[in-house]
Parts: sequence; C-alpha cells; structure tokens
Amino acid sequence: MRAAIVAVGSELLGTERLDTNSLLLTRVLRRFGVQLRSKSVVADSEADIAAEIRRGVDANDLLLVTGGLGPTADDVTREAVAQALGLDLAESPEVLAGIERKFRSFGMRMPAVNRKQADVLQGAEVLENDRGTAPGQRLDRGDGAVFLFPGVPTELEFLIESSLLPWMREKLGAEAIETWYLKVACLPESALEEKIQPFYQEFDRHDLTVLASAGEITLRVTQRGAESERREELRKRVDRLEELIGDAVFGRRKAATLEGEVGRLLGVAGRTVVTAESCTGGIVSERLTRVPGSSGYYLGGFITYADRLKLELLGVDPALIVENGAVSEPVVRAMAAGARTRLGADHSVAISGVAGPGGGSYDKPVGTVHIVVAGPSGADHRELKLPGDRARVRQLASQW
Ligand code: AMP
Ligand code: MG
Repeated sequence: MRAAIVAVGSELLGTERLDTNSLLLTRVLRRFGVQLRSKSVVADSEADIAAEIRRGVDANDLLLVTGGLGPTADDVTREAVAQALGLDLAESPEVLAGIERKFRSFGMRMPAVNRKQADVLQGAEVLENDRGTAPGQRLDRGDGAVFLFPGVPTELEFLIESSLLPWMREKLGAEAIETWYLKVACLPESALEEKIQPFYQEFDRHDLTVLASAGEITLRVTQRGAESERREELRKRVDRLEELIGDAVFGRRKAATLEGEVGRLLGVAGRTVVTAESCTGGIVSERLTRVPGSSGYYLGGFITYADRLKLELLGVDPALIVENGAVSEPVVRAMAAGARTRLGADHSVAISGVAGPGGGSYDKPVGTVHIVVAGPSGADHRELKLPGDRARVRQLASQW
C-alpha cells in the first residue's frame, strides 16, 4: 500500500505553526509498514488543494488529508475534494443535528458558519469526532481510501484512534512494527551511552533510538515481525536496557512523566509530601499538581524566595544563613525540616540555588543548587552544578 499525506492550512506555510499532524499520521503508517510516498503542505486555496488531491489519489492507495474542515471561510477542504474527484457535496441532516446538539450541550446556539461542517461528500463515511464539531470523512476507493481529518491536533488524535487504526487493521492485519519505550531521568546522555554499551554488542543498534531533552531521555526500541515473537524480543531488549541503566529509569510508557511516577509511588506507599522552594519558585509544586489525583499525597508548600520568609515561614535559624549563605546544605536541610514539621507531612523537598544570570560567585557559581529530600528515616542532601541559562537551571533543579 502506498500512502501520501496532505496537510492543509496557510498558517503551516509560515513560521509560526509547524505541521505536526503529519508526524502523528506517519507514526500510524510506520506501525503498519505502509510506505509514505509524499507529504505536502498546501495553502487554504480550493484550486491548490484540489490539484494536490488529484495528484495524491493518482499515485497512491491511501490519502490522508488534515485541516480545512473548520467553520471559517478559509476552510475549503471539503469543497476542494469534491471538485478534485467530481463528487457532489450535500448537507447531511443527521450530521447537522449532531453539531447543533454539541453546541446546545455547551448552552450555545450553533453559529450559522458552522453549518457547512455538515456537508458530506457523496458516498463518504462520516467519522464521528468527539472532541470537536467537524466530523472526519472517509471515501473508499478500491482497496484504498481518502480520509479527511480535522486540523486540530487533539481532534486528529481522536480520529486516528477511532477511525484510522481500525480501518488499517481491517485492511492490513495487525501492526507489523511495534515500539516500546524507556524513560530515564537525570542521567547525561553521554553517561547513558556508556552504560548501554553492552546492549550495542548484544543487539542491533539500529533498533534503538535515544532522544534526549532537558534532564530526561527517552529510549525507543522498535521491532518488526509477528506479534508474539516481536513482543518477546522487545521485552528482552527493554529488560536488558533497564538492567544496564538501573535506578534512573522511571517509566516504560511513552507518556510516563517523572511527576506522575513520583505521585504513583507516594500513592502506593500512602505517604504525603510538601515542598519548600527557593530558586525554582514553585516549579516542583506546579509539576506535582499537574498529576490528576495529586491531592491524595501532595499537601502544599512554601515559596520562600527572600531570606526573611525562610526564617518566618520555615523556622530556619538566621545564624545558619549568616554563616553559610542561603544556598547551602545547612540552610536547605533546615528548610526541609521546617516544611515537614510545620505542615505535618511524611516527606518534604527543599531547593535553594543560584539560577543566574547574576548572583554567582567563585564558591557558588550560577547553577549551584542544593536539594534535600527529608522523610521519616532522615534526609538526603545533594549539591548539583547544573549547566545552562536560568530557565534550564530551574527546570533541571525541579527534575533532580
Ligand atoms: P483547521 O482544521 O484547518 O481549521 O485547523 C484548526 C487548527 O488546527 C488551527 O489552529 C491549525 O493551526 C491547527 N492545525 C491545522 N493543521 C495542522 C497541522 N498539520 N499540524 C498542526 N496543527 C494544525
Ligand atoms: Mg485551517
């Protein structure tokens, strides 16, 4: 099966908005071993879209089109496809009723401009869109098809799950390629590379991709073949990687996050945590509370930026600050102890550091960060020298 992707939208030709939808679609094609022959980005022009659609269906079995299904005057994908393939476009009373119902459920009347989203191509299957008003459409052509998807990425994701994947499975059988993930925190890429050297000797290095971002690395292991052998092989590889990397691995799901995993562990242990943050200004608190259900283990915290607040809110002894400075092990230990006892939590996390660009000294250069994690059995301290600018130092500090 040959496939092409057409992304519609003049904004995608500028510098402000990237065409990310084609990446979501490409991932699906890869999973089924379908060859992607071309990818194009077209302006909101009926004639240009129609020309691209004609070219696309002539050369391919499967054409995936995203964008231009919105209610505004520049959304002309439906009209362009009708023109390209010589099909009628007619309003569907059922689709129209569905759109009106969605607006009613928000306590609104459907604006007149949305009416055209009920236009359906002759012979098309309407693809229900639970996350927006514009349904997708599928036109079957021989063994292949033309899919029209909305441009809003979350709506496209929904339609991929509900419409494209089932169709692909029916046409092509089970996925031919599968990817497993391993998420790693606070290990520099070079250190990780060293740890996994044995893996490269034992397995084919081309099946492994290492994607690094600030304080976090995602490892992707990809495997072809029939499901049971493929899974066995993937498990072997991912287990081996985890064995080599050790503690720094925090998740196996692609969507796993450090804050989510910390929350899961606290939940399982039935423990609570509080925070006392200086240089991160609440980033740790913000990240912890991103997780649904975090109220079960996160009680709250202090942002004690000024020394006075470290004394007044956390009970830090002023002599400690005078002797050691606010960015120091004794002060951060006292912050952690104060937060824990004053808020009555099992654990506390305290952070103080020099985020920069100013404020650094010979002894405490920019990037110096002290972190203490305290609990019932004592407190762990760590001093870090983090690289990068202010934003990066703060992000990395929250990650550690
Ligand atoms: P549309 O369906 O063309 O009305 O697009 C709705 C929204 O989705 C707009 O904010 C677009 O910028 C965005 N969008 C459309 N196509 C893409 C794409 N290929 N990748 C990422 N975002 C997109
Ligand atoms: Mg558009």
